[in-house]
Amino acid sequence: MREPSAEVIINIDNIRNNIIYLKSLLNPNTNFMAILKANAYGHGLNKIAKEIDDIVDGYGLVRLEEALSVREYTSKKILLMQGIYNTDDLDIALEKNLDVVVHNRNQLFVLDSNNINFWIKINTGMNRLGFNPKEFDLIYKEKNLDNKKFILMSHLACSDNRMDKLNNKQFRLFNKIADSINSNFLQKSIANTGCILNFPEECHHWVRSGIGLYGGVVGNNELVPAMTFRSRIIEIRHIMKNDRVGYNGRVIAKKDMKIAIVYAGYADGFPQSTKDKTTVIVNEYKAEIFGQISMDLISVDITNVPNCKIGDWCTLWDESNTNIAKDNNLISYELMTRITPRVKVIYKNL
Ligand SMILES: *Cc1c(COP(=O)(O)O)cnc(C)c1O
Repeated sequence: MREPSAEVIINIDNIRNNIIYLKSLLNPNTNFMAILKANAYGHGLNKIAKEIDDIVDGYGLVRLEEALSVREYTSKKILLMQGIYNTDDLDIALEKNLDVVVHNRNQLFVLDSNNINFWIKINTGMNRLGFNPKEFDLIYKEKNLDNKKFILMSHLACSDNRMDKLNNKQFRLFNKIADSINSNFLQKSIANTGCILNFPEECHHWVRSGIGLYGGVVGNNELVPAMTFRSRIIEIRHIMKNDRVGYNGRVIAKKDMKIAIVYAGYADGFPQSTKDKTTVIVNEYKAEIFGQISMDLISVDITNVPNCKIGDWCTLWDESNTNIAKDNNLISYELMTRITPRVKVIYKNL
């Protein structure tokens, strides 16, 4: 056996199929922006950009460095969602043809540049970033936006919950503001993945989809996770009734048992808070986490897994086992983005 290491396997076909499915829900005129922030939600920025460039209309990033990296692979639209913080970065954005978000007064200098493509973010109820409607009105006049082409954007707080009343409140306010300004010069963008799935009629000119690409949406069978996280079993031991396992001796064997020690831990990005009985897969069989997650190791109850041996794989999550998040009060976004650099990344279907 080679030196073992935790690894993630990224299935590019799944990402492409997820995009094709999401696009099938949209009006054909709607542009599809793939959100690749945070290293493509942990899936590897450059590889993903290269492999989906033919089926998307643009990319959304948060860090300038990431936007520049993606620019090497595409001539399509790239939106720098954090916006610009100084004139040096504005020059870079102009040179590399990046679109930039303007979401507060400190960024208004961007509007004085004639050649920059900009998006103005308004706050419609999430109360995180963006101009409040009155402030936007003032800026609209102050900066003569009547004569400028831009994209009006906002972000939804609860789009994954169709029943939450905040959704319609945000849509109403967003559309009202858009209707009040010169529509000849305007495009609109409010939709994230949840909006595409739950409110396709509110998708307008640009959707900004992240989690849907990677299949991390809960409760939709068409979107398939693209990430498998696994590592090898490096030890198997028999323990006796009443033996305790791992730090703090958190678990106590109720009977004689067989456990596997898997070579992955919280230093690889597997959550330390994972509870006992969380399901993982060993040789196609379900097995349960048994004991506290260590920095490098996870202990798993394999009493009922036949023929298990050192070197076998333990799959922590993949497209058939997606319950880790739900069972541990975590979200798929966090699980994907917390994979650490020491984990080996392998691409399938390149
Ligand atoms: C992250 C992000 C998105 C993507 O949201 P998903 O729920 O992952 O689809 C869209 N817009 C903005 C501004 C974001 O920051």
